[in-house]
Parts: sequence; C-alpha cells; structure tokens
Amino acid sequence: MTTSVLLSIIVPVYNEEIALPLFNEQLIKVINPLNITYEIIYINDGSADNTEAIILNLRNQYPEIAYTKFSRNFGKEAAMTAGFKLCRGEAAIIIDADLQDPPTLIPAMLKAWRNGADIVNMKRASRESDTYWKKTTASLFYDLIGKIGEVAIPHNVGDFRLFSRLAIDAMNQLPERSRFMKGLYAWVGYPQATIEYVRNGRVAGYSKWPFLKLVRLAWQGITAFSTMPLKIATWLGLISAGGTFIYASYFILKTLVTDETVQGFPTLIITILFIGGIQLFCIGILGEYIALIYTEIKQRPIYLIEKYFSSK
Ligand code: UDP
Ligand code: MG
Repeated sequence: MTTSVLLSIIVPVYNEEIALPLFNEQLIKVINPLNITYEIIYINDGSADNTEAIILNLRNQYPEIAYTKFSRNFGKEAAMTAGFKLCRGEAAIIIDADLQDPPTLIPAMLKAWRNGADIVNMKRASRESDTYWKKTTASLFYDLIGKIGEVAIPHNVGDFRLFSRLAIDAMNQLPERSRFMKGLYAWVGYPQATIEYVRNGRVAGYSKWPFLKLVRLAWQGITAFSTMPLKIATWLGLISAGGTFIYASYFILKTLVTDETVQGFPTLIITILFIGGIQLFCIGILGEYIALIYTEIKQRPIYLIEKYFSSK
C-alpha cells in the first residue's frame, strides 16, 4: 500500500463524548511540534451519544482528521482492524480516546520505531488504576496463555502500540474473524521494542469492559491461540477410562476371590454421574471449537462501514 503521511493515529471510540475534546486537544498539542505529516483516524464503533457530532466538528478545525462510522457496535478489536485497513501512514499508533494512554509518549514511540522496531509495545509499569481483582486475573491470564498458547504474549501490554508499515501490512493479511489482537500482534513477530509507562485513570466516562466481557475476551484468546482445552478433554477421557478399568478389575477379582454379595448403589450412581459430567464437559469444549469454525466459515465481514470521510 502507498503511504501518504508519516504517522497515522488510530483511535477507536465508543460513547466518548466527554473525553474526546480533551483527548484531541492533548494529542494535537503533542504532535504539532513534531513537524511531521500525520492523520488522526477516529473510528466510531456505533456510539449512541454525541460522539459523531463532536468528531465532525473537530474535523472542520483540523484537516488531519479522518472519520469513519460503523453501522453498529462491533467491538474494539473490529475497530482496530478497520484502523489498520484505512491508515495511510508509514507507521501507525493505536491509542484509546479516554487519555489512559498518554499522547505525550508518542515522540518516544517514534524514536523506537526509527531505531528499527516494527512494533513498539507500551508496557504498563504499574496498574494502579486497576482493581486488585483485575490485576490478579489479568496476570493469571497472561501466565496461562504464555504456557499453553502458540505464541508468548507480553504481560501488561495493551493495544497502545506503534506499528511500522511492514507490521500493518502483516496485520492486514490476517483474515480471521475471531480477532484477539494482542495474540495477533505477537504472532506477526518482527523486531519489537518495549517502553514502560504509567497508565492513568480514565479522564471521563466509564470503562466498556465489564468483567464478563473480559472473561469472554480471555476465552477467545485461549481458543484462538491454543488447542490445549481439546487436549484436556482427551486427557480427562483417558484418565477416567483408565480409572474405571482399574476399579472394575478390582470388583471382578473381589467377586471371584470372596463370596460377598454385590453392593454399591452409591458407587454406581456417582460413577455414572461423574462420567456423564466429564462427557458433557468435553463435548462442550469440542462445541466451542466447532463454534469457532462456524464463525470463520460464514466469512462475514468483521465490521460494516456506514460512512467514511478521509482527512482533507
Ligand atoms: N471501545 C470501542 N468499542 C467498544 C469498547 C471500547 O471502540 O466496544 C474504545 C473506547 O472508546 C476506548 C477504547 O476502546 O477508546 C478502550 O475502551 P475502554 O476505556 O472502555 O477500555 P479499558 O481502558 O477500560 O480497558
Ligand atoms: Mg480505558
């Protein structure tokens, strides 16, 4: 793809009417003195508030702003995917609109890119703004996926990153529908650099990631990058079949050697329920992967664009 600006800033936005003007102001304040050509792509992920009017208004003031709107809320992963497709920079930075990712770090990211990194990962030095619960579960998740996944996903690195044109084009080649972006970034490889930073709290509005949505994202990450759950099913099956065989042999021997009458209704019912439970569990895991195949095979687009205005 031909590039026409040096830097694209990709901003997924979903109901950010309060944070947006503050964010845009800070961003421009950081980029303008750099004397580079740039575009800011706001991707409105189906906001229901005043987000659109605010962006269009900003676009009248700042010709560098491009705007696109999805036909409904498709999620941040879809918005970032669209950002990669639309961006025209030699490098692109993905940044949240709520100022949790400080725009002041952009010069340092550009420097790391100029020093040869194709992906610059921004690592949260502390997660002070997160609850203890979120910190622990996030850390457990990264440990787990590091052990069972096909690629190592760096700890505490979110979507705030810089990508070179090489990495952007690589991302654009990945056609999958279940887009666990943090995994895909690790999967593409290339020289990567890491910069630590302190993540602020949100300036305004609320987080769009309630706990259950995070669990869903974690499960999506695990199933997209590991077939370990399927292997667990196999192992559970083997262990329970082996255990049953030993248990059965014991009873057969006991009946042959002693003349005790057959007892054990509780054992029977427990065994039946146990095996039944394992079977349902394993079928469930199988089902999860079949559902993934189903989603992929339908080949639906990852998002639908309702309107697009390029930068001027
Ligand atoms: N976002 C989005 N689509 C969604 C949810 C969030 O585009 O369905 C955007 C949101 O507007 C923000 C960024 O993604 O710019 C990060 O979202 P949020 O701050 O809610 O996540 P958190 O920082 O709590 O992880
Ligand atoms: Mg946030």
